[in-house]
Amino acid sequence: MTKLITRFAPSPTGNLHVGSARTALLNFIISQQSNDSKFFLRIEDTDQQRSSSKFTENIVNGLKWLGIEWDDDIQIQSKRIKRHKEIANKLLENNSAYKCICSEEKLFKKREIIKKNKQSSKKICTDCKNNIEVQNLSEGFVVRIKLPNDGEITLKDKIQGNIVVNNKELDDFIILREDKTPTYMLSVVVDDNDLGVNLIIRGDDHLNNAFRQLYIYKFLNWNIPEYAHVPLIHGDDGSKLSKRHGAVDILDFKSDGYLKEAIINNLILLGWSPGNKNEIIQMEEIIKFFNIDKLSKSSSIFSYKKLNFFNNHYMRIENGLLEFNQYCEKNKILKILMEEDKDKLNKIFQVYKKDLVNFAELVKIANVYFDKSFKYNQNEKLGAEFKDFFNDFVNNISNIENWTRDEIQKSIENFIGIKNIKFPILGKPVRYLLINSFNGPSISDIFVILGKKDSIDRLNQYIDQS
Ligand code: GLU
Repeated sequence: MTKLITRFAPSPTGNLHVGSARTALLNFIISQQSNDSKFFLRIEDTDQQRSSSKFTENIVNGLKWLGIEWDDDIQIQSKRIKRHKEIANKLLENNSAYKCICSEEKLFKKREIIKKNKQSSKKICTDCKNNIEVQNLSEGFVVRIKLPNDGEITLKDKIQGNIVVNNKELDDFIILREDKTPTYMLSVVVDDNDLGVNLIIRGDDHLNNAFRQLYIYKFLNWNIPEYAHVPLIHGDDGSKLSKRHGAVDILDFKSDGYLKEAIINNLILLGWSPGNKNEIIQMEEIIKFFNIDKLSKSSSIFSYKKLNFFNNHYMRIENGLLEFNQYCEKNKILKILMEEDKDKLNKIFQVYKKDLVNFAELVKIANVYFDKSFKYNQNEKLGAEFKDFFNDFVNNISNIENWTRDEIQKSIENFIGIKNIKFPILGKPVRYLLINSFNGPSISDIFVILGKKDSIDRLNQYIDQS
C-alpha cells in the first residue's frame, strides 16, 4: 500500500475559521489512521498583498490549540517560487501553455460575449497561441495553460462522486502573471506533487479548481492525487457560516472559554456519524472509526446549541477544573480573581458548571461573588412574610460554627421546620440578598462560596420596605 500523504494548505489572508479547521481536522485524522502516513501544513502566501504573518500565526496557534499536529517543518509556498516558475517554463516548452498579451479591454469584451452566449467555449484568448511573434516574446506577457476545447474531463471525488465537465467550460487560466509571479492554480499543484500528496481533502469551494488543476498533472505526467471535496459549513439559516451567526474564528472560541474537545466533537459530526455509538466522541475514537468515504455530500449546519451542549459536557468531566484554571490564567479578569482567592473561584466553577455553556460566562458570575461593595437591588420587594423571620434567620445561621454545606443545609432545614414555612419563602429572598438574583444555585452553595462573614454582611443590608 502506498503511504498516505495529506496536507492542509491555508492562505494566510484571515484568521483560522472553523470551516478551515474542519478541513485541517479531517486531513489530520486520516493521516493518523495509518502508521507511515504524513500530514503537511503548507502556508499558501503567494498573494503578498492579502497575506499577513499575523494570520499565519493565528492559523498555527489555532491548529496547535486544537491538537492538530503536522509533520516536518511548516511549508512556506512563497519560498518555492523559483520551482513554480521552472514548471511554468516546462509547460511552455512542452506546448501545454502559451504566452498571451491580450489587453484587459479585449478580455473584458470577450467575457461579455461568453456571458451572453451560454453555449460558447470559455476560452477567452484564442489568438495568441497561434501567433509566433507573441510566442517569441521575452517580456510583457502572461502565461496561460492550453486546455483542449473538445471532449470532457472526469474528476473522481471520494465525497462528490464522479463529476464530468466539458472542456469548453474551462478557461485557459493564467499560471504566470505578467510580473512573472506564479498563480495559486499552478503553485498548489507543484507543491502538492513535490510533497507527494496523494489525497487532497479540502472545501468544495475548490471543486471548480480541481478540473483545471487535473490538467497540470496530466500535462506533466505526474501522479494524480485522490480528491475529497468537503461540503462547506452553513449557519442555521442555510447561508455560509459567518460572523453573523456567532464566533467563527477558532481562537475566539478559545477566548470565549470553549474546550477543544467540544469544538472537535461538534465538527466531526457534521456530515458523519459514528453509527450507533454515543454522540460524545473524542479524538482517539474518532481516529478509530472515522471514514472519509462516509462523509455526506450535502452541506451541514453548524449548530451553536450543539456546541454548547458538548462544551457543557466537557467542562463537567474530570479535566474541567484544570481546564478552567488554565483558562483563568489567560482571562484578564478571572486571573485577578484567581490571584485574590483561587479556592473561592473554583467553588464558583464547581457550583455553576452544570448550567454553563462556556468559561467566559463565569466572569459576570464571579464578579458578583467577589464584589466587595456588593449592594442588593433595593427596588425589589422581598415578600411580606420574609421580614417576620429575617432576624431569626440571620441569628440562626450566625450560630453555625462549622461553615460547611452540610451544616448550613441542616440549619436551614431546621429553621424552616420550626417556622413552618415553605422553602421558597425563605430561599428566594435570601438568594436575592446574596447575589441579586431570585434564581441560581442552592443558597447553601452560595453561602459556602461567600463564606460566613460576607454572607452575613450581605444579608444584613436588608431593609424592610413595608
Ligand atoms: N490556499 C487555498 C485556500 O486557502 C487552499 C488550497 C487547496 O486546499 O488546494 O483556500
